Amino acid sequence: MPKTDFQRVFRIPPSLADRYHRCSRSAALAPPFRPTEASERGERLHRVLEYSVKGTLAGRCPDFNVLLRMAGIQPASDEAETAETTLNMTYAWLDSVAATPIASEQYVATPPRTLFGQQGLAVELAGRLDLVARDLQTYYVVDLKTGSAVPSAEELAAQPSATIYTLLTWHAWRDAERVIVAQLYPAQQQIVSVELDDTQIEAGRAAVRRIVGLLAEDSAAQVATPGGYCAWCSVRQGCPAYRSDDLDDQLF
Ligand code: SF4
Repeated sequence: MPKTDFQRVFRIPPSLADRYHRCSRSAALAPPFRPTEASERGERLHRVLEYSVKGTLAGRCPDFNVLLRMAGIQPASDEAETAETTLNMTYAWLDSVAATPIASEQYVATPPRTLFGQQGLAVELAGRLDLVARDLQTYYVVDLKTGSAVPSAEELAAQPSATIYTLLTWHAWRDAERVIVAQLYPAQQQIVSVELDDTQIEAGRAAVRRIVGLLAEDSAAQVATPGGYCAWCSVRQGCPAYRSDDLDDQLF
């Protein structure tokens, strides 16, 4: 058995990194994921994009109604309209940057790498890439978003997920010279894209290192960083950063 120089490995997917980066208390204490109507709707939308891209890659041009049926979406519904918007936006954007799809729903993971400055800890980046397209050595990695607010390009660049998607693309496609990370928001009909510079990538790496450090120390639940998202945080009740006043001080 090969010997490694680390004792613990942390697998950090892009969405998990963003949640811990926003507020690690919220990410650590949130109840386990349970599918909702909205999340299932998002899944079906991802399937439409996946089947469309995979069909095209296989040399077929799948009929839209067949795609809907395969994804479990009722034709002539508002969900079908969103699916149509998603495909139209995606392909129009790819045309505008002269990129050709090469993969959809592709799972990529890096081997565990020891963390600089964190004795005995290693990190493994992993994620499912909704869509990857390329124009020569420029790669586009697209994340389909169905439920969140649209960030600015600066906000997207500051999300650790942007760094993780960039690193995963470099890992999977060794000829990639440039990586453009994009988020597609069909409901808002917007696409936000960014190409990270070295400083932004280093900031993303530092964010991942910090998250691994918190997880390793088992202290993630103690670090609360409030923001506008507190309003829909599922663990805001009892959060000292959300609401603490004189009355709370008198409870004990
Ligand atoms: S209320 Fe805000 S600060 Fe408190 S855990 Fe939730 S997101 Fe974090």
